[in-house]
Amino acid sequence: MRKRYDFCVYIGRFQPFHLGHLETVKIALQEAEQLIIVVGSHMTAPNIRNPWTAAQREKMIRECLQEIPGALDRVHFVPVRDQLYSDNLWVADIQQKVLDIAGESSAIAIIGHRKDSTSYYLDIFPQWSYIETGNFLNINSTELRSTYLSRAPQSAYFDELPLGTQDFLTAFQQESVYEQLCEEYSFIEGYKKAWSVAPYSPTFVTTDAVVVQSGHVLIVRRKARPGQGLYALPGGFLNQNETILEGMLRELKEETGLKVPLPVLRGSIVDSHVFDNPGRSLRGRTITHAYFIQLKAGKLPPVKGNDDADKAWWMSLADLYAHENKFYEDHFSIVQHFVSRV
Ligand code: NAD
Repeated sequence: MRKRYDFCVYIGRFQPFHLGHLETVKIALQEAEQLIIVVGSHMTAPNIRNPWTAAQREKMIRECLQEIPGALDRVHFVPVRDQLYSDNLWVADIQQKVLDIAGESSAIAIIGHRKDSTSYYLDIFPQWSYIETGNFLNINSTELRSTYLSRAPQSAYFDELPLGTQDFLTAFQQESVYEQLCEEYSFIEGYKKAWSVAPYSPTFVTTDAVVVQSGHVLIVRRKARPGQGLYALPGGFLNQNETILEGMLRELKEETGLKVPLPVLRGSIVDSHVFDNPGRSLRGRTITHAYFIQLKAGKLPPVKGNDDADKAWWMSLADLYAHENKFYEDHFSIVQHFVSRV
């Protein structure tokens, strides 16, 4: 008998893919002929919230689906980037990718579970029917990652995972990136613990500089945790005794040694913007004020990594797009925000 829907769309991060996700896939395959699994947060640099690339997650899910006869012939995988500052761009990307697979006249449903306020995205596809699955065994990816990255024994979390994910996680423990993520996890936990004695949860204020000249943007490499080794904008925490503009110029000079006089830098600011996505930093709520400094075309001034940066260099805009998945937090989105405007 033909099923109620031609296609079901299942959006998730699947970090990692657990039994609750697997149960949802089973329901989707009962309700629809085919399933489109949207693997979210594509091209994010590995961190403790998103340890695995979209390709690794697809591999993990494929392994798990082998236990459902014929499932893999009916499932499509679609990696989708986050658009932290534009739900419209994100929705449009998913609409287009689903249209490419399902065509114009298919009966489509989106499946998921409204688990908390972060599930709001399930409501922004009104053209599709909605299938609510309910919660399965209260399994929670955040808790699974915490257990895994705090090096707990496998017995502490294996009973919430399909066999495919168990095998994937066991193999991943042999890779050096697993150790790096465990260290990062312990650093972030320590950081949060240090602030837990404050009477209110802190909101941090930082500044960032997007300096562009002749098709290049000034980039640093982070010397320390969190995000050690990732590419970032010159910037950092605001000091108590300075304005945001002064903080941005201080950090820019400290981290890159940029040999352009301060009055020229001030006079070259063409735009500024506040970036405040609540989830943009794993250390806690952090609002950054970014300035766009467009220098006159010409020879690129010398720069040298210093302070919190072990390297500073002028990255061509072509390289920028090629290295999207090496950027810290939302710094790629911040650069993109400004360079797409001029
Ligand atoms: P997830 O893997 O945590 O969850 C995927 C789905 O499974 C959700 O519907 C969730 O409620 C459900 N689920 C989780 N545990 C369950 C359980 N025990 N039982 C039953 N169902 C369960 O993924 P997520 O974080 O919700 O994924 C959303 C993706 O969409 C992310 O990549 C996010 O970044 C992206 N997103 C992007 C934008 C943007 O870029 N503008 C906006 C919204 C969402």
